[in-house]
Amino acid sequence: MSIARRSFDTLIIGAGGGGLRAALQLSRADARVAVVSKVFPTRSHTVAAQGGVNAALANVVPDNWHWHMFDTVKGSDYLGDQDAIEYMCRAAPRVVYELEHFGVPFSRLDSGRIYQRAFGGQSRDFGGDQAVRTCAAADRTGHAILHSLYQQNIRARTHFFDEFFAVDLIRDQDGYFLGALALEIATGEPILIEAKTTIIATGGVGQLFRNNTNALINTGDGMAMALRAGVPVQDMEFFQFHPTGIAGKGMLITEAARGEGGYLLNGEGERFMERYAPNAKDLASRDVVSRSIATEIREGRGAGPKKDHVLLKVDHLGTDVVRKRLPGIRDMAMTFLHLDPAETPIPVSPTAHYTMGGIPTDRHGQVVVPERHGAEEAVPGLYAVGECACVSVHGANRLGGNSLLDILVFGRAAARHVIGHLAEQHFHRPLPEGAADAAMARLERWNTPRKGESVPHLRAEMGRVMEDHCGVFRNEEVLQDGQKKMLELQERMKDASISDYSQVFNTARIEAMELENLMDLGVATVTSALARKESRGAHSRIDYPERDDIHWLRHSLFGMDGIQMDYKPVRMKPLTVDSFPPRKRTY
Ligand SMILES: Cc1cc2nc3c(=O)[nH]c(=O)nc-3n(C[C@H](O)[C@H](O)[C@H](O)COP(=O)(O)OP(=O)(O)OC[C@H]3O[C@@H](n4cnc5c(N)ncnc54)[C@H](O)[C@@H]3O)c2cc1C
Repeated sequence: MSIARRSFDTLIIGAGGGGLRAALQLSRADARVAVVSKVFPTRSHTVAAQGGVNAALANVVPDNWHWHMFDTVKGSDYLGDQDAIEYMCRAAPRVVYELEHFGVPFSRLDSGRIYQRAFGGQSRDFGGDQAVRTCAAADRTGHAILHSLYQQNIRARTHFFDEFFAVDLIRDQDGYFLGALALEIATGEPILIEAKTTIIATGGVGQLFRNNTNALINTGDGMAMALRAGVPVQDMEFFQFHPTGIAGKGMLITEAARGEGGYLLNGEGERFMERYAPNAKDLASRDVVSRSIATEIREGRGAGPKKDHVLLKVDHLGTDVVRKRLPGIRDMAMTFLHLDPAETPIPVSPTAHYTMGGIPTDRHGQVVVPERHGAEEAVPGLYAVGECACVSVHGANRLGGNSLLDILVFGRAAARHVIGHLAEQHFHRPLPEGAADAAMARLERWNTPRKGESVPHLRAEMGRVMEDHCGVFRNEEVLQDGQKKMLELQERMKDASISDYSQVFNTARIEAMELENLMDLGVATVTSALARKESRGAHSRIDYPERDDIHWLRHSLFGMDGIQMDYKPVRMKPLTVDSFPPRKRTY
């Protein structure tokens, strides 16, 4: 069968903030750029980001990038790579001012400067008073950023393949990546998109867990594509549980609610965070607050008839503040809970939120893999940016407001590196005969009727297994059981069916491929968690409650060639300043 072919300088898979920031840089440099997205670009999950983006602008209180760097290293529980963290924190003010010039309608202070609010884990002077570092457009910051970036890309003539599903990456025998095979969702036709460089920007994998704050499309496709192409995934055991998802439903109530002065109460009306984090209280790091809530619930001090959640109180801030600074969460609470947070506290519980792990890259966004002798090697022509990548600036725990920053800084950095690469590579490498065969075979598999269990049924079961076996608190037995169940599910997936083939629309085939991706990443997550015998950041082992820097201050790598783990050192050396050595982490 002959497949339609298009060729570009750069293929970007994903039209969230990471993909669009990279695309804009490239299009403005006159590169021929194609952006493929399985949903219309402005429906990417970035649109849902509420609270804001961190940059030490010092618009409200004194601040500088070095304090931001310290907070990020500490927040990462010292697993973040300090060269990349320095690079990100230094670049932050510049990327935020760029956004302002792209047209992002930031909220304003009375002075006319960009509005900034306090967020968790932020401090002044290396661990001192609370900093105020998160730049916000009300509580709809991601919406404002994504729409502005999309408009700028239209202006710069970026080529969009809207509603195309990338199936797999294509490479030649020498290991060069040459683009990807995609499926046009409306017609079911495959298309081969050839490129000199490919940037994966497909976002996170929140859909692994039954209750999560993510969009339905966050199925980790790019990470799974990389895994299938022989690239390991890094630090997958570190999955962030956001402290304040709407209890039992999962929608996010932004940390900005606490940044504006809201606080948490247990079922006994106690402001319990004072016991767990005497200084930062409700604005401690997310892993700390999530664990504290889970402990309150476990020890019987939850709220509600089932004592299965706690309460987030913002009504004391007054109706004006809630309406002006938190209009989105007010809408959400009124829609899904029929309550007005300006009058009644919101029931919340920890909910799966953010993938710290992902495709290993350096600070230029180049995908790197370990060489046989321990050194790292860049994979030719392949880049990853945004939530699907692991640079690693978030280490074992991401700070709120640092992900929008990550996608902007590294989207831009990767594009700048690609521009250098394109200046040297004038021609496309030849596409070998049959280069797309494996990807086509994967597509074909879902055209052939089978009699196994239904895809939605398996997806629901996987979400429950991941939630029960790889949640906020973990131990050996629960994880072992979880790994066994995930491996069984992966086997059962091979016979899965997508019901009546004569009536099925292409989206059902896509859901099946998404579930395959989720299963691979679920196995990666639970296997990495089982192997790491310590507690660090978001990975809390009841059986190994302490952080163990001697044995575990290292990144984990999971590859598809069996379920064997590999490890690599943390880059402790920053670019220009002294490194922050691991210290006990208290808030
Ligand atoms: C509810 C919520 C609120 C948040 N609030 C904040 C916040 O206030 N501050 C902050 O810093 N961070 C926040 N985050 C995190 C942050 O928004 C995300 O980490 C970030 O936006 C991810 O951007 P991205 O570009 O990597 O991916 P995404 O925005 O998720 O985009 C992924 C893109 O990949 C495409 N794609 C995926 N798979 C395929 C495929 N197979 N084929 C084709 N296209 C594909 C999708 O169509 C989409 O365009 C929040 C996250 C959530 C869920």
